[in-house]
Amino acid sequence: MLASYACDPSQSRGRRHPEVPAPTRSAFQRDRDRIVHSTAFRRLVYKTQVFLNHEGDLFRTRLTHSLEVAQLGRSIARTLNLNEDLVEAIALAHDLGHTPFGHAGQDALNSCLKAHNPDSAGFEHNLQSLRVVDMLEERYPEFDGLNLSFETREGILKHCSRRNARRIEAMEPGGVARRFLASAGPATSAVATQPSLEAQLTNLADEIAYNAHDIDDGVRSGLLTLDQLEEVDLFDYYRREALAQHPGLPSRRLLFEAIRRMLSAQVYDVMEATRESVRDAAPRSVEAVRHCRPLVGFSADMAARSARLKKFLLQNLYRHPQVAETTQTAQQIVRDLFAAYMADPAQMPEAHTARFDRFEIESGTSPDRLPKPERVVADYIAGMTDRFASKEHERLHGRVVFPL
Ligand code: MG
Repeated sequence: MLASYACDPSQSRGRRHPEVPAPTRSAFQRDRDRIVHSTAFRRLVYKTQVFLNHEGDLFRTRLTHSLEVAQLGRSIARTLNLNEDLVEAIALAHDLGHTPFGHAGQDALNSCLKAHNPDSAGFEHNLQSLRVVDMLEERYPEFDGLNLSFETREGILKHCSRRNARRIEAMEPGGVARRFLASAGPATSAVATQPSLEAQLTNLADEIAYNAHDIDDGVRSGLLTLDQLEEVDLFDYYRREALAQHPGLPSRRLLFEAIRRMLSAQVYDVMEATRESVRDAAPRSVEAVRHCRPLVGFSADMAARSARLKKFLLQNLYRHPQVAETTQTAQQIVRDLFAAYMADPAQMPEAHTARFDRFEIESGTSPDRLPKPERVVADYIAGMTDRFASKEHERLHGRVVFPL
């Protein structure tokens, strides 16, 4: 059933540490299963998507968001004869590197690293997701991390700064970071390639998922209103359509129905537009896909409508004064934790302080060297859930900032 341009697990570029194939599962099914059983995956339950975990039980968390991305991605993948297992694996792993408190936590951690050492590569959540699966999970006797297939790791590393890409490339020549070095000059032979269609698809499914569920969570929280959403043409079209078919539909059901119709329309649009691009580019293999322009996407019209929705959410939800207020508090927690552990590393559990003396080979640093203390601290903080970070802050600073 797989298209010739889909990722075929039997043709995988393999794992960093070679392993005997599983008797009944493909390489990508195995990747997905390893992700589901990881510690970092369970932590996603208590990590913020937009609303802090303690603000309400029904808001999306990183976990439910990741499940929605997997659902959307798989249903599109199946129609396009792409590899569903790979899409699912990438979707479930794509946010593993997120800090507590969502983007607020990430920005704070990035500034802490750069303030501590101006030469620092900072904090990037895509790279952190790769660090989690490549080295931070401790589950196997023979290697650090989950030892996932190249294709899953390629999908996880969605963006990467040139600087970090160079470091990964040094560790793993021609590997997942190569495509980010395309314009790095004649010193590398890299060309600007794209990741697999499965990776491109999961990336778009991520965007479709959060645009839709953030409307739902925004209204649920009271920060957005149905009336206000009338200015978003993509949403309003389906709100009107639902109302025309079900006059007098109560607002909660109207909201769900409009979101449901909007999601379906986006999914069908991606299927149609992608089919067309694939037909035009006619790639015969995954390698050919990597040398084409990006092939998974919306039609031009849907892309414009989706961009307007995104802009609306940015202006009215992500920058809402109430969200901004919790953002500042969350950033303070991360900054305080970073300062406290840097001043007294013994405040971290031994499993983390032990890394100070352990040479590590990992993506992101040169081989056989000690990790920088600030990186160990950043890895520890990045792994925390919202509530663990709050509790640690309370323990170290003696004041409650977020009542849990
Ligand atoms: Mg996401």
